[in-house]
Amino acid sequence: MINATSKIELIKGDITKLSVDAIVNAANSSLLGGGGVDGAIHRAGGPEILAECKKIVARQGGCKTGEAVITTAGKLPSKFLIHTVGPVWNGGGKDEAEKLSNCYINSLQLAVMSGAKSIAFPNISTGVYGYPKFEAAQVAVKTVSRFLTKNDKIEKVIFVCFDEENFLFLERELGLVKS
Ligand code: ADP
Repeated sequence: MINATSKIELIKGDITKLSVDAIVNAANSSLLGGGGVDGAIHRAGGPEILAECKKIVARQGGCKTGEAVITTAGKLPSKFLIHTVGPVWNGGGKDEAEKLSNCYINSLQLAVMSGAKSIAFPNISTGVYGYPKFEAAQVAVKTVSRFLTKNDKIEKVIFVCFDEENFLFLERELGLVKS
């Protein structure tokens, strides 16, 4: 039995600075850039990323909610960039949890397929898309832990929190603090 939690790290900071095999972008379905972490990634990674996204759009017409695509990481210190589209929060009755879970699973699967052993996630959907942070943290930890117990190719998963609230919820979900 693989101990999933021992492979998960939690940090506070800017995901564009991380030197890991793959970082994940909370993109939108157009794949053509946006605000929040998406904007920060495109700014730091340079135009090569958008150029590859445009090729994907020409081929498959964007990316559906819960799905993921992979591109170069451009000038970022990571090797790959995985773009996934989180669900917009709509009250919770529109399969948001399943869609958010799919973002983590599909991103991890792409990482495995490309040979990445370390991957960093932002708190998908918890910005402009309005997913409640506590519920999002539960989905993130449950999904990633389950994946890691079934798949031994990924050695490290880092949750990168930009804000204190997400950090505290994840810390609790990961059992790093006593409740
Ligand atoms: P979404 O549309 O999926 O909600 P956002 O980019 O608006 O995406 O927000 C997702 C999360 O990314 C938020 O918790 C936000 O605080 C965080 N975020 C914003 N910039 C960065 C960054 N540079 N590094 C890591 N996380 C970031």
